[in-house]
Amino acid sequence: MKIYKDGSFKGIGIGYAGEIEALITIVQGKIKSIEFLSHNETPVISEPAFNHVPSNIIEKNTIMVPNVKGCSMSSRGIKEAVMNALILSGENKEELFKEFKNSENLDKIVVSKNKSKFKPVENFDIVIIGGGGAGLSAAISASNLGAKVVLLEKMAAVGGNTLVSMGGINIPGSDAQKSKKIEDSPELYYNDALVGGDGENNKELFKILSENALDTYNWLKEEIGVEFKKDELIHFGGHTVPRAAVFKGKYAVELISKLKEKAENLGVDIRTGVEAKEIITKDKEVLGIKATTEGNIVEFFGSKGVIFATGGFSGNIEMRKKYNPELDERYKTTNQSGITGDGHLMCEKLGVDFVHMSYIQTFPIANPLTGALSHVGGSRFDGAILVNKSGKRFVEELERRDVVSQAILAQDGGVGYLVWAQEVEAVANRTTDNKAEVNSLIRSNLFIEGNIEECSKKMDINLTTLKDTLNIYNSYVENGKDQEFNRRGNLINIKKGPFYIQTVAPAVHHTMGGIRINNENEVLDIEGNIIKGLYAAGEIVGGIHGTNRLGGNAITDILVFGKRTGEKIMK
Ligand code: ADP
Repeated sequence: MKIYKDGSFKGIGIGYAGEIEALITIVQGKIKSIEFLSHNETPVISEPAFNHVPSNIIEKNTIMVPNVKGCSMSSRGIKEAVMNALILSGENKEELFKEFKNSENLDKIVVSKNKSKFKPVENFDIVIIGGGGAGLSAAISASNLGAKVVLLEKMAAVGGNTLVSMGGINIPGSDAQKSKKIEDSPELYYNDALVGGDGENNKELFKILSENALDTYNWLKEEIGVEFKKDELIHFGGHTVPRAAVFKGKYAVELISKLKEKAENLGVDIRTGVEAKEIITKDKEVLGIKATTEGNIVEFFGSKGVIFATGGFSGNIEMRKKYNPELDERYKTTNQSGITGDGHLMCEKLGVDFVHMSYIQTFPIANPLTGALSHVGGSRFDGAILVNKSGKRFVEELERRDVVSQAILAQDGGVGYLVWAQEVEAVANRTTDNKAEVNSLIRSNLFIEGNIEECSKKMDINLTTLKDTLNIYNSYVENGKDQEFNRRGNLINIKKGPFYIQTVAPAVHHTMGGIRINNENEVLDIEGNIIKGLYAAGEIVGGIHGTNRLGGNAITDILVFGKRTGEKIMK
């Protein structure tokens, strides 16, 4: 076994959401401990990587250990951090690089949490596929009504793409809206969504969504114990009023952790590392699912039916190109790696009907190199402006995602620059709250903090025009009206340094299209008939959002319809 030099050494690696800083301690030539000083990896999703990679490194005394399936980027970041600490201890850089690279070829660790040893056939009342917000809430509401539920999740942890969101849920009438005396209603919400979706929304489904949003919010608070930030709202693009209640803590971690806890307490059998492969049918009725786990095939039967909650298909490039050839390999995605349209593909074989498949949304404010959704770039909602290389604004910052995305792509280099200063920063502390993302953006030359001269020089933006743009914008703030783009919401000064400039570009984020359901969340075939035993909820469902989903509407959608599906299937 390799002998290293004794001592404690720090190293930094890049994970999914920025820097991971590790402190390793070597005793008698062996790696004795690995401590993490800071990181910003998505909680819950990255847990399996932190549970397995460091202990493996210690056990094998090398960074030549496999990644955890579903957490490859976090696994890689952990190994890189340890590698850099070992380099600092005096180890040979080239050799370590080789080990780091070769470790990518090892078979990934599949973390499966299967209560029982694999039986080839298992029987439940309900089988749910997918452990994002939709699947978990369906599991809770069904088991609340007495169902024996199994939830199959192919990744190492539940959370899905729900965890890769800004953490806002649109609710007309939330506590935060009340405390800010914001007048809102399900009707106003419905109208905004229809304008945002060019009227192509399935109106009946959106009506259900808007009318049940507040009830679902109360259910989250009272029955699931989800906590919200008291006075904070996000004003996502396209909404007339600030409407998104914000989960306590970061992003949607509070939501997923509480849903998971509740589901487990109710006895929902959550199986991670289990991948659904095929729908089992008999005489056109859905009976169950054939799945694989750790190389075994297991058939899960649901006497009351199967609920598909497998999310969208943003991460499946072939599918994207099939339905919208423009969105090819050039586009990165904000999505976690399990979002590959598996549910759609399984349903297609069964003759399920699809709607709006070509409506695919890009999120305008992502990392141009990785596609990761930028939480620092949430400064746009707080008051940051978007400029181009010439230092000019080019779009209303709170326009719909498709409009802002297209506008950014039309600029020089296909990128935009968010510009803000201390007044905007004070609204939600985006840079201090997302330190790891900021550090990794700096390393990639995508972010700078400083005076306006330094910032514009570093980002190669025309300084004179940028200064003019800021002066004009600040005069709009004074007059309370943006005369160029009519920016909605509060206008806030960008005057007091240090300034921040961040390079941003759109990445594929959400698929509005999907399988067709009726108002009871039953799946329909191409002739419009109900497929007995098959239900769906969440992003896999098509049509609710029309051409373009407004920010904060996905979380409302998946929870309203997830909860509802669990109830409907029990009727
Ligand atoms: P929603 O927002 O609709 O709940 P999410 O994207 O949050 O959707 O969650 C969907 C979940 O479904 C993800 O965790 C994903 O890994 C899981 N999933 C996708 N395909 C399969 C499959 N074939 N078997 C099991 N789980 C799957």
